[in-house]
Amino acid sequence: MSDTHNWSPESLRRQFPILDRKVHGEPLHYLDNAATTFSPECVHEAMSRYENHYRSNVQRGVYQLGVESTEAYEEARNSAAKFLNATSADEIIFTSGTTFSVNLIAYCLSQSFKPGDEIVVSVAEHHSNFIPWQRLREQCGVEMKLIPVLANGSLDLSQLDTIITDRCRLVAVSHISNVTGSITDLKHITGLAHRQGALVFVDGAQATPHGPVDVQALNVDFYAFSGHKSYGPTGVGVLWGRRELLDALPPFLTGGGMIERVTAQTTRYLSGNRRFEAGTPPIAQVIGLGAALDWLMALPWQEIRDYEQKLSGRLLAGLLDIQGLRLLGEQAVTHRAPIFSFDIESCHSHDVCQILDDYGVALRGGHHCAQPLMDALGLVATSRASIAVFNNESDIDALLVALNKVLEVLR
Ligand code: PMP
Repeated sequence: MSDTHNWSPESLRRQFPILDRKVHGEPLHYLDNAATTFSPECVHEAMSRYENHYRSNVQRGVYQLGVESTEAYEEARNSAAKFLNATSADEIIFTSGTTFSVNLIAYCLSQSFKPGDEIVVSVAEHHSNFIPWQRLREQCGVEMKLIPVLANGSLDLSQLDTIITDRCRLVAVSHISNVTGSITDLKHITGLAHRQGALVFVDGAQATPHGPVDVQALNVDFYAFSGHKSYGPTGVGVLWGRRELLDALPPFLTGGGMIERVTAQTTRYLSGNRRFEAGTPPIAQVIGLGAALDWLMALPWQEIRDYEQKLSGRLLAGLLDIQGLRLLGEQAVTHRAPIFSFDIESCHSHDVCQILDDYGVALRGGHHCAQPLMDALGLVATSRASIAVFNNESDIDALLVALNKVLEVLR
């Protein structure tokens, strides 16, 4: 998508051939983008060019193919740095996804944690940004404090200055909730955390699908996201960290590609990001992710956001019209991402989503890997519709029509 002026929902949709397929004889209405979104053809083409023309390992071979694959791999790193507004590409680590990135940071930081240290996590986190910290409580004796939620599931930051104390070493929060679509006030959190000398790790898995992020403006210390939710391939993700922090961390995995010198007795590791990329990386996926990020950066984000808000408004109005429906997060289209979780009185979300599937409408039902949040809200599961840039009014209308059919069956 190089010419941003020619943007239209239809031209965008044409880049996703998967949208032409049918499900149970019905046109596909895919609204589970928060789980995994589709990728445009340019991503598949970039990966297929690698596979068919220069497949080889990176940072090893001096022959032409090796040079080309290393260049393409490092070009993807430049794209990721630009996408996050990192100060340098040396701050970008390619991982297998957000889950891996959280585990990497939790393990590496914990090497310097002591009993009595505190970490602060919110109740609304995805399990990927919850369990690794919970394990540190068991393994290192650190205290894990929780940021509570309001009745709608958004974070309650009113007592934050008492939760983050001078014993706090780290605050780990998501940028956008995968359940409520609520946007976290990161500036407020980093202000308080840094004042107490704590670092801030941000799970950006649900934020990067909605446009480039500025880690410098957010003033955070670590930021992670997954390729497959940001129009890129599965099996790849990005972890960004401030260069001086990466230099101070011990490695996570050890092996080839991350050393300066190995002797029979000891090993000296590379510094910065290279210390964290042991072994052969997912090369085709990294190159595909680079293409996805270039594609995302070329989109006209002001227009896209207006368009997403228009679709959100249509969906919100329809949902709030349904009797007995409880919508989580903001009840307006502003100050939220287009992720809508709802509970319909006396209808289990698995039944709701099963019947929606008969109409070609794909929604996610369940606890969304956020059981502590479900517990806090007195829920077991919700149905969740999440909108991507290629969705259109017909997707929203199909969902609302199918929901009425669901109600006829279940009520
Ligand atoms: N955090 C959030 C907010 C998510 O939505 C997800 C995926 N549902 C993850 C972390 C985990 O991402 P991945 O499975 O790609 O590692």
